Amino acid sequence: MRIENDLKLGFKDVMIRPKRSTLKSRSQVNLEREFTFLHSDVVWKGIPIMAANMDTVGTFEMAKAIAKHGLFTAIHKHYSIEEWRDFANNTDQKTLNNIAVSTGTGKEDSEKVKQILEEFPQINFICIDVANGYSEHFVNFVQKMRKNHPNKIIIAGNVVTGEMVEELLLAGADIIKVGIGPGSVCTTRVKTGVGYPQLSAIIECADAAHGMGGQIISDGGCKIPGDIAKAFGGSADFVMLGGMLAGHEESGGELIEENGEKFKAFYGMSSETAMNKHAGGVANYRASEGKTVKVPFKGNVDNTIIDILGGIRSTCTYVGASRLKELTKRTTFIRVQEQENQVYS
Ligand code: 5GP
Repeated sequence: MRIENDLKLGFKDVMIRPKRSTLKSRSQVNLEREFTFLHSDVVWKGIPIMAANMDTVGTFEMAKAIAKHGLFTAIHKHYSIEEWRDFANNTDQKTLNNIAVSTGTGKEDSEKVKQILEEFPQINFICIDVANGYSEHFVNFVQKMRKNHPNKIIIAGNVVTGEMVEELLLAGADIIKVGIGPGSVCTTRVKTGVGYPQLSAIIECADAAHGMGGQIISDGGCKIPGDIAKAFGGSADFVMLGGMLAGHEESGGELIEENGEKFKAFYGMSSETAMNKHAGGVANYRASEGKTVKVPFKGNVDNTIIDILGGIRSTCTYVGASRLKELTKRTTFIRVQEQENQVYS
């Protein structure tokens, strides 16, 4: 046993210090970024915020709606080939540029990915997603996917430490998904005691990835636009959202009406609900590591996206960053013991 004594931080532990700025208006801030990748030579340009590959978030409808704003969707892995055909044959190229096909490490998943990418070679991203990215089996799977898809942009995760970021980049991933335990419907920390405060995970993993020419996605734990700004300020290249994009018309999941109020179902992909739906129940050697909740219905996702982007543009003006790319360089975090004033919450 060993104890690491340096304090690790989450979004709630910091604020971003304002700095002198020459920007006159939020409209002067450019949130688009252009990325080249470690292995793939495809170039991607857009606003690097992603809908999570959950079946109550990362849907085809979400992809179409948020691609219009330049945002990205990791499509959940539970669509059939027929559903993919219906979607991809009518969909504009901008949406196809802004999606990833998701897979676990199972044979069935990876064969479906192969088939989808053969039929729709315009899709450039593969998201290889497992709850625990630390296994040798996972690293071998990433190697195999790189061999089979030499020019696709491969996202792999989730991990939270620099050495595993390096190993996955060496195995063939371009972008590493970072986050264990911060998610809004995640109970990993409760069930296992394992986790890593998200802001420190971002800072440490980005340092490892950027040193090798890779990128990271901060995945999970953003509750408000300010958290997304902190994730970018901490060096995340992309930020992935689950809960903040759940509950919309485009989020999938059932609409529930109770006493005249509308809600939408939202659940973790390792929750009992998800396992009953997609895996025929919770296997008796494992525990569910996700919650099932109902969130107030939030209507069209456009309004949420406009609110999020407005918030981040404002962060940039507070620190004098005319482009999102400059935000990290201009960020000084201050450690705090308070956040917003809750008197009217
Ligand atoms: P959020 O933005 O809601 O805080 O976090 C979204 C992320 O939570 C997802 O992208 C995924 O990494 C993680 N997640 C989704 N479902 C589950 C689950 O059932 N268990 C755990 N441990 N994490 C989950």
